Amino acid sequence: MSNLHPCPECNHSVGASATSCPNCGANLEEEQGIGFHIVRVIITLAIILVLGRVLMYVSESLR
Ligand SMILES: [Zn+2]
Repeated sequence: MSNLHPCPECNHSVGASATSCPNCGANLEEEQGIGFHIVRVIITLAIILVLGRVLMYVSESLR
């Protein structure tokens, strides 16, 4: 049961709770970034929804 994942910079196995790589010192905030990633997905979906509504409104007004 290893919660290790490779460092994106040096491929050194780093614990999931580590915020920086002990080998090269790279910043590893992926564990904390999951919530931020979800927020980004929600914002992207909201933008798509708004754009879809705007496009529908424009196509309706062009008629
Ligand atoms: Zn590293």
